[in-house]
Amino acid sequence: MSSAIHVIGGGLAGCEASWQLAERGFAVTLFEMRPIQTTDAHQTDRFAELVCSNSLKSDQPPSASWLLKEELRRQKSLLMRAAEDSRVPGGQALTVDRVVFADVVSAAIEAHPNIKIVRAEVTGIDPAQPTIIATGPLTSSRLAETLTRFTGADRLFFYDSISPIVDAHTVNREIAFAASRYDKSLDGTGDYLNCPFNKPEYDRFIDELMAAQAVEAHVPEDVPYFEACLPIEEIARRGRDTLRFGPMKPMGLIDPRTGRRPYAAVQLRQENLRADSYNLVGFQNHLKFGEQKRIMRMIPGLEEAEFLRYGQIHRNTYINAPALLTATLQMRAHPNVFFAGQISGVEGYVESIATGLVAGILAADHLSGRAPVAFPRESAIGSLCHYIANADPRRYQPANIAFDLFPALPQPLKDRRERQTEICRVALEACV
Ligand SMILES: Cc1cc2nc3c(=O)[nH]c(=O)nc-3n(C[C@H](O)[C@H](O)[C@H](O)COP(=O)(O)OP(=O)(O)OC[C@H]3O[C@@H](n4cnc5c(N)ncnc54)[C@H](O)[C@@H]3O)c2cc1C
Repeated sequence: MSSAIHVIGGGLAGCEASWQLAERGFAVTLFEMRPIQTTDAHQTDRFAELVCSNSLKSDQPPSASWLLKEELRRQKSLLMRAAEDSRVPGGQALTVDRVVFADVVSAAIEAHPNIKIVRAEVTGIDPAQPTIIATGPLTSSRLAETLTRFTGADRLFFYDSISPIVDAHTVNREIAFAASRYDKSLDGTGDYLNCPFNKPEYDRFIDELMAAQAVEAHVPEDVPYFEACLPIEEIARRGRDTLRFGPMKPMGLIDPRTGRRPYAAVQLRQENLRADSYNLVGFQNHLKFGEQKRIMRMIPGLEEAEFLRYGQIHRNTYINAPALLTATLQMRAHPNVFFAGQISGVEGYVESIATGLVAGILAADHLSGRAPVAFPRESAIGSLCHYIANADPRRYQPANIAFDLFPALPQPLKDRRERQTEICRVALEACV
């Protein structure tokens, strides 16, 4: 085995990075602080635990999210293999059983002869030691303090929220109906349960939501929420109909009881292989638990619902990547140190896996004495890393993969679908 490297954090990015290094023959020491010390969101000691939704987003070409996953599959990503092995129906999305997913990853990591696992919190960084920092949005406070000093920049915080989960047996199926929007289901059956609202029901729901008590979180008044993950009470505050054009939109749904499109709808997505729990899609919130139960039970079909988990608010820690990293995910000032996952300034499960894969592959090059070369700019992986390294450091916001991160095509195409199909073709050709 060749030289040793430390990977800090056994989450999505850290596991993918460790696997890529170990498969290339490098000795990896993987540090994970759970279960000795845990975070506000993790519930197990398993590697690659999904802390909120069980969806890895669209797996339908030509979407940017599909493209990123397809590139990862072609790069032999361990976590994409685990996602296939744990897949459950989810319409056009790649949806997984979170327990099976974490088990597949944990078994692979634990059995790899090149990976040594150390269950301990890391609190210091040695720039002489090759290291990948993949401690995620809930990085322990002691390490976060070290990183503030080590990066010489201000640590950034913002707040996200997570959605409630209900027990499937307590959903009233005489009201909630199975369907995917516009009948686009993977297997011909409805992959979602849909709770339909008429106008008076919607109005009552909005009134109660606006009047509900939120958790007194230690969150400043001017919380800079990540726009794609707004709590529902915050969305409702932006206008009475805003939820109806967002997570409660009824488009593409027909209520079989009325034969008409409902006024609004809440979608429930299957959580695991036994279909015994459902996630309220896009219903992240930080209402007090008692209030949450009362208000969520106003949703038609959920009058008797039992909640397995309530929505919550959480902290997100990330570095100011464009000021600190190159597109190879190495620190400009300390090339031995790589960042990967949410802390590197990306947002989302698959984006975290992607940066873990990049850090693993390029750290292997670095350890072999070859200068790491960034992934091709035309690819989804390359575009994500390019954004991290080149966005405006004065106003840095973590990114999900999206077509606006890609370089312009040499021949502009007017038709949106044709343009996206061509971007995907070019990307896959570049990313071999
Ligand atoms: C509550 C919450 C909900 C989220 N929901 C979604 C969602 O629904 N969909 C989505 O796409 N993304 C979501 N995200 C964002 C993000 O995709 C996930 O957090 C994802 O797990 C990030 O992967 P990661 O590898 O960067 O971090 P993680 O998967 O969190 O892994 C980091 C690991 O590092 C460990 N660690 C931390 N500090 C130390 C230390 N000092 N020493 C040793 N180990 C340490 C942690 O225990 C953890 O296991 C959510 C984030 C949070 C916090």
